[in-house]
Amino acid sequence: MAAPQFKVSELLAAEKPEETYVSFEFFPPRTEKGEVTLMEEHMPVFAKQSPIFVDFTWGAGGTTYDKTPALCISAMNHGMNVNMHLTCTNMEEGKVKEALDLCKANGIRNIVALRGDPPAGQEWKASAEGFTCALDLVKYIRAHYGDYFCICVAGYPEGHPDKIHAERGVMNAEDEVHELSYLKQKVEAGADVIITQLFYDVNVFIRFVKKCRENGINVPILPGMLPMQSHGGLKRMVSLCKTYLPDDVIAQTEALAENDEGFKAYGVELTTKMIRDIVDAKIGINHFHFYTLNLPHSTMKVLDNLGMRKE
Ligand SMILES: Cc1cc2nc3c(=O)[nH]c(=O)nc-3n(C[C@H](O)[C@H](O)[C@H](O)COP(=O)(O)OP(=O)(O)OC[C@H]3O[C@@H](n4cnc5c(N)ncnc54)[C@H](O)[C@@H]3O)c2cc1C
Repeated sequence: MAAPQFKVSELLAAEKPEETYVSFEFFPPRTEKGEVTLMEEHMPVFAKQSPIFVDFTWGAGGTTYDKTPALCISAMNHGMNVNMHLTCTNMEEGKVKEALDLCKANGIRNIVALRGDPPAGQEWKASAEGFTCALDLVKYIRAHYGDYFCICVAGYPEGHPDKIHAERGVMNAEDEVHELSYLKQKVEAGADVIITQLFYDVNVFIRFVKKCRENGINVPILPGMLPMQSHGGLKRMVSLCKTYLPDDVIAQTEALAENDEGFKAYGVELTTKMIRDIVDAKIGINHFHFYTLNLPHSTMKVLDNLGMRKE
């Protein structure tokens, strides 16, 4: 039987400040075998950790139109509270409505509203019927579905990679004003929660949270944590997201480039330290959102290190 579904915003509001909470992101596997492995082998491991929610990404350019909702429904049947990503790139209004109606009909209460990236090799363009950005999608959801959904949106501690002018992960002053003002518009239009892009410099994240609060952005901010798992994967991710790597992280990852196990272990240690540093910074962040890459190993090791792992 499907688990009862709750709005993430309401669950976050009930979190105790002295405790630490987690949520887990997955992407739709490319093959049927991968899907069985994720849902039947890995999902029960993640479920044991009582995440506040699990979320499933929407394929670039709307390529997982059928898969993402199906995975959400399957996760509900594994006892999970789900949060579905929905992008408006290459999506006409009718398709967006169909996806949202399907969520509502199945009791899904949470949507991550995104502009989205284009399929590999293509440039981003607005769909014919004109969603131009995530802000349009947030407005659309609120206009057509009222308060039924909790809406999460993306936040970029280092600025959006399309127009980043950052040094050591910190945006220049003009970009920072632009990003914060745009993020505030998404919240004022109805976004309840911000989930951040991954980062590897805790100071950049702390600065972002403080700047959000100074600018009247007061909704919960969930830091996106990606325990790095391979040298090649890190290179691809950093080039795609233009993530800033501090000097010590570059030195360590280069030294471990040929040592797969050592690299994974370093990824776990780094994420553990980042979470401790964020908690110690006392900026009101006690919920960590893991980009799991569909694999439990590194995430579970981090939870072990923090003494949070539930057996
Ligand atoms: C937590 C998270 C989850 C993600 N999940 C997915 C996913 O499932 N599928 C996928 O394809 N991609 C995903 N992405 C990537 C995301 O789609 C891309 O980064 C995309 O390029 C931007 O999406 P967005 O929703 O942030 O866009 P938007 O919020 O629309 O904005 C992106 C940037 O464009 C500028 N901008 C846009 N519109 C305006 C405006 N009207 N006024 C001023 N500035 C504007 C701002 O600088 C803004 O930061 C995710 C990213 C994050 C951080």
